[in-house]
Amino acid sequence: MFFRCIILINQYMSEYVKCLIIGAGPAGYTAAIYAARADLKPVLYTGVLDGGQLTQTTEIENYPGYPDGITGLAMMENFRRQAARLGTDIRAGFINRVDFNSTPFWLEIDSERSILADTVIIATGASAKWLGINSETKYSGFGVSACAICDGFFYKGQVVAVVGAGDTAAEEACFLAKMCRKVYMIVRRNQFRASKAMVHRVSNTCNIEVLFNTETEEILGDGLNVTGLLLVNNQTKAKSTLSIDGVFIAIGHKPNTEVFEGCLDMNDAGYIKTMPGTTCTNVAGVFCCGDAQDHVYRQAVTAAGTGCMAAIDAERHLANSNFILKESISLK
Ligand SMILES: Cc1cc2nc3c(=O)[nH]c(=O)nc-3n(C[C@H](O)[C@H](O)[C@H](O)COP(=O)(O)OP(=O)(O)OC[C@H]3O[C@@H](n4cnc5c(N)ncnc54)[C@H](O)[C@@H]3O)c2cc1C
Repeated sequence: MFFRCIILINQYMSEYVKCLIIGAGPAGYTAAIYAARADLKPVLYTGVLDGGQLTQTTEIENYPGYPDGITGLAMMENFRRQAARLGTDIRAGFINRVDFNSTPFWLEIDSERSILADTVIIATGASAKWLGINSETKYSGFGVSACAICDGFFYKGQVVAVVGAGDTAAEEACFLAKMCRKVYMIVRRNQFRASKAMVHRVSNTCNIEVLFNTETEEILGDGLNVTGLLLVNNQTKAKSTLSIDGVFIAIGHKPNTEVFEGCLDMNDAGYIKTMPGTTCTNVAGVFCCGDAQDHVYRQAVTAAGTGCMAAIDAERHLANSNFILKESISLK
């Protein structure tokens, strides 16, 4: 009740926009480009990572339109410039509270100001889970990756390791095994968490070797690139080093959707549910795109594609709402 009162007071003092976009990754910026061109005058809040996950990697080789590849930072700067040139109002700020119970929707930014919006496009992405060791950060993009589809190509004919025991880790290992000379899977427990089908695929791939009961203590390197792993067997406590050219951390992803908990339908892992073939959530006027709703593909190009869909869905929602409003006025 107390919060509801604060929300009501804030609503009288809030700025009002047609289309609010949350997130500044490929999904958010693509939604902004389309929304701006549809004259929705979008306002986009960047959160703490302007440019999104791609700013954490080096070379992007699989985004169409860049025949020679491009760095993640440069590509996301291009996204930003294009969205700004077309009229997106890009602002620093983190959405920390929302009320989607009535329209216009109410959102709070940095716990200090609020905004009202007719439509909201959620493009808050996801974060890869990391081991949390210093050497992982040091060699991120230089032998440490969280995405085999993105970076596997760079390790053709080389030796790599995949850390993880679930379906994603097994899938990444099988994917890498097609192009790498040898793939080690580093599994903490004495068994996989992956489905039987995936375990079967791993066991039947001759260049994958699974090291059970094994933990990664340190990622070793020569100051420039990864050269190996320092491993410990958690049963015998014996330490060993493994020479590798790259390591893929596949221990899961976490969607950045905590702020929407209780307001929108989500799956058990926190990914926002959208209606098949659309970006519509269970709240009319609230749309979700990119990795925040996609635990399967998790690519920049799919994020951008769903960003485009979200802007089109928002534009059609507004057009229909205006039509219904005009109809009801003319009937009176
Ligand atoms: C190391 C690494 C390498 C990768 N390499 C490739 C590659 O080579 N090719 C490829 O296609 N894909 C690659 N990916 C995957 C790709 O980065 C993602 O699929 C893509 O970035 C998802 O885009 P997104 O817009 O959904 O979310 P993100 O890029 O995650 O962006 C989310 C945005 O939301 C903002 N945000 C979050 N919460 C809030 C909030 N409450 N309020 C305001 N803003 C908020 C963040 O600040 C950020 O700007 C890689 C990923 C990683 C981690």
